[in-house]
Amino acid sequence: MAMTFDQLAAYLDQLEGTRSRNELVRILSELYGAAALEELEPVTYLIQGRLAPFFVPVEIGLGERLLVTAVAMAYERPKEEVAASARSLGDLGLAAQAVAHEVTGDAPAVVEVHRQLSEIAAQSGTGSQTSKLERFSRLMSDLGPAAAKHLVRITMGKMRLGIGDPTVLDALSIAQQGDRSLRPVLEGAYNRTSDLGLIARTLRAAGVEALDELKVTVGKPLRAQLAERLPNPEAVIKKLGLVGVQPKYDGLRVQIHRHDGEVSIFSRNLETMTDMFPELVEAARRLPVENVILDGEAIAYDPASEEYVPFQETTSRRRKEGIAEAAAAAPLRAFVFDIMFRDGTDLTPLPYEQRFQVVDRLLAGGDTLVPAPLTKTDSVEVLTRELLDYISQGLEGVVVKRLDSPYQAGARNFNWVKLKRHTSGELSDTIDVVLLGYYRGKGKRAEFGAGALLAGVYDSDRDEFVSISKLGTGLSDEGWREIHQRANPLEVAEKPARVNSVLVPDTWLRPEVVVEVLADEITPSPRHTAGRSGDQPGFALRFPRIVSVRSLDKRPEDATSVREIREMYQQQRQRQVRG
Ligand code: ATP
Repeated sequence: MAMTFDQLAAYLDQLEGTRSRNELVRILSELYGAAALEELEPVTYLIQGRLAPFFVPVEIGLGERLLVTAVAMAYERPKEEVAASARSLGDLGLAAQAVAHEVTGDAPAVVEVHRQLSEIAAQSGTGSQTSKLERFSRLMSDLGPAAAKHLVRITMGKMRLGIGDPTVLDALSIAQQGDRSLRPVLEGAYNRTSDLGLIARTLRAAGVEALDELKVTVGKPLRAQLAERLPNPEAVIKKLGLVGVQPKYDGLRVQIHRHDGEVSIFSRNLETMTDMFPELVEAARRLPVENVILDGEAIAYDPASEEYVPFQETTSRRRKEGIAEAAAAAPLRAFVFDIMFRDGTDLTPLPYEQRFQVVDRLLAGGDTLVPAPLTKTDSVEVLTRELLDYISQGLEGVVVKRLDSPYQAGARNFNWVKLKRHTSGELSDTIDVVLLGYYRGKGKRAEFGAGALLAGVYDSDRDEFVSISKLGTGLSDEGWREIHQRANPLEVAEKPARVNSVLVPDTWLRPEVVVEVLADEITPSPRHTAGRSGDQPGFALRFPRIVSVRSLDKRPEDATSVREIREMYQQQRQRQVRG
């Protein structure tokens, strides 16, 4: 018997209702257990409020106003009534639920609803709006109340059950095997393809072994290789020996795919951003290859001042209007530092030195896609000189790479090490935290509704956000206002399931806003859950200052992880012992 969309909605209600991450995994694994093979992909995308994997930009194309009309049409109510009810309930999904009827007879299957929504999304051109509206309201009127609610939320892009990708992987493992033991294999496949639906289907259809066959594919972004930290050039050479040293550009990570003449560009968090980079698309089209995947950092260059434009300005180009103007005033270039695929061959297993040679040859002579310079050395002096040299050129520092390392999608390890310098002079690094809640302030701060913020980091093993600090200082009024604007819509009545905290703020937030902070020190703390296990205390930040609000390139799961905090803590202790 096919799973109906109403049955899926009952699971979504359960997921919405739980405060515990283990429960999320349990309910999801039950849902997966109940789904048939051909339902796995639609279910996987729908539980994350989507119709396709994250990197495929599908929009159903019915905004809030049209949805109000659709609800009114479906249940033969006046539009004003629906709009008023949405206002008073604070959610059009709840308004739809309130007027929907229980269905009798043949309820639409999940697969059918997914197919219809995909077809509605694909409709475009004149008259498409009316036809989208009619199809959508007909579909909705066949659904029960809970299903109507979730259908509206999915369409508005507002279904946030807070199910992280690792939670889905755990649930798949349990559904298939009864425990979490498949997680590493699943994670490997996910790192190469970024497509959870495909993974769910492959696992069920052909078993665990088949996951190894899910290879790097042009058109599907790989999860980015990331860099570890070490305190200084000495530590780098001691740990890695002979290395390749490259400047660390402060731009936007871009993964450039070219496939049959088509170019797609993905951001660090795997979003499709092709339209933002016309110059890069053009340059990638001209490359003498059948197909290719490149990794690099895009940065705008001001020909007048002969300077690179900083991150914030580079990203402002992402606002669609003005791309052509921005491209003319400060053309973009991408410093390409890696290649993962070329002409049908997966290059990720090759040592970095060889991959870089391919990049160098392929891009020779280009001035939009440029190979990042690479200096080979095993000398502390040379590395120090390179670091200071690049810093004096206004760059962030260097990224040091092991010449014999493969490209490990999704890994943060010592294949790559970043060295940066802060204005204070000492080497250190900022930490990206996720806002978990507000404490109400007194006086001026209370005006903006926040006296302090509860902030956490990401525990990637458990797919949980764990608290590490309260943030109170370091922001201008303007800065507070910005944070407040971002965080306000994320207020929730109860602690979200994936948040693990002993401290209870006045108001909880859905963990979405990532903020960059600089702290003096990491200290052990019994009050915080970051890194806490058994009778081991957690970690806290001493004197944290907010440096910036990271808006565009980081998902909450891209925040600093507990593992990184633990390593930073150990490095800090080594420095203290030596100092
Ligand atoms: P940060 O906040 O320090 O930029 P991050 O968490 O965004 O860190 P890291 O892995 O810490 O990412 O640092 C690597 C990032 O530096 C890459 O994601 C990339 O965007 C950027 N980068 C700039 N130049 C290079 C380079 N030559 N090689 C690799 N990455 C580079």
